[in-house]
Amino acid sequence: MSTTVIDIPSDSPFGIENLPYCVFSPVGHAPRVGVRVADTVVDLAATLLDPVFAEPTLNAFMAQGLPRWKEVRRQIVDLVTSDISSTAIHPVSEVTLHLPIAVADYVDFYASEHHATNLGRLFRPDDAPLMPNWKHLPVGYHGRSSTVVVSGTDVIRPCGQRKSPENADPDFGPSRRLDIEAELGFVVGTASRMGERIDHDAFAEHVFGVVIVNDWSARDLQSWEYVPLGPHLGKSFATSISPWVVPLLALEAARIDTPIQDPEPLPYLRGQQKWGLDVDLAVEWNGHVVSRPPYAQMYWSPAQMLAHTTVNGAAASTGDLFASGTISGPDKNQRGAFIELTWGGSEPVTVGSETRTFLEDGDTVTISACAPGPGGTRIGFGDVHARILPATPVRR
Ligand code: MN
Repeated sequence: MSTTVIDIPSDSPFGIENLPYCVFSPVGHAPRVGVRVADTVVDLAATLLDPVFAEPTLNAFMAQGLPRWKEVRRQIVDLVTSDISSTAIHPVSEVTLHLPIAVADYVDFYASEHHATNLGRLFRPDDAPLMPNWKHLPVGYHGRSSTVVVSGTDVIRPCGQRKSPENADPDFGPSRRLDIEAELGFVVGTASRMGERIDHDAFAEHVFGVVIVNDWSARDLQSWEYVPLGPHLGKSFATSISPWVVPLLALEAARIDTPIQDPEPLPYLRGQQKWGLDVDLAVEWNGHVVSRPPYAQMYWSPAQMLAHTTVNGAAASTGDLFASGTISGPDKNQRGAFIELTWGGSEPVTVGSETRTFLEDGDTVTISACAPGPGGTRIGFGDVHARILPATPVRR
């Protein structure tokens, strides 16, 4: 059996401090669990003696819990820093990457004060931008888990009811205001039971890892439908996630305090541990960077989001995905949605040699992310990218 040693450049964002998981297929083979090391995917089904790695999703492994997640990370470090069977490693460019988790429930939050304030000004110009509840609880809505897709999946422009302010009645057709939302998503590994609450400081016992999320949003559908029960068809047509699940265990050096929360949240939303995260995102529109949203600016932490989600006794399940909401910083070039970046379409942005307000057919959006790791290393999240296809023709 031929063996090899994986070359891991010291500046790789996929060094042994990171080790993000994926589900992949080598050419001609069934999906299985892998881990990324530098520019290779290591086949865990072929190297670790546990049938969970031969599964087509990460769920069985995620359900094993925090002590096992730590043990497997140690095993992987041993594996990839010594001789490894050549048949167990594959160049990233030669494998097919799949949706890494079977998504159970999907919830999306609204945790950026800058985003919520900007959207409030755009959607409700005559009212206070933040609703009275906003600084007391992390606002969220229940999304559609069955249309969460992996990066690279084309997104078909949705159709729906559109009503512009100058018209008395809605009409029907393809969205004219198709947008993105650059977010992080948190994946639950260890479930909880109905009636049980997940304390703020039990976050790391339940959350397995983090992905990049693009919450595609049809603003014309959304603005007409969302009162009073929240987003529905303007969001449910597609949500894209990155193929790499970065373990929460890889983000120790990225943990920071959230911005000051005033008024102080209720006790169930407080804890000893800090779960703000210093993650920098970049949004590329047709290959041109148009925004750099800073996750460090998010008002509500993911530990607060999970504590809030379960405080009424709702159970968390293995495979639950909860996303942060659009990440926007205070500066214009830190806005994680095009409706903010172009101020409702009134301030077009330059994209290469063209200008844009909302997405056009054929456009591609790529969102990448990176965080600090231990000892000056970088923790890469890879990216989530997709292309917009024309709407499906409508027969009336
Ligand atoms: Mn969103």
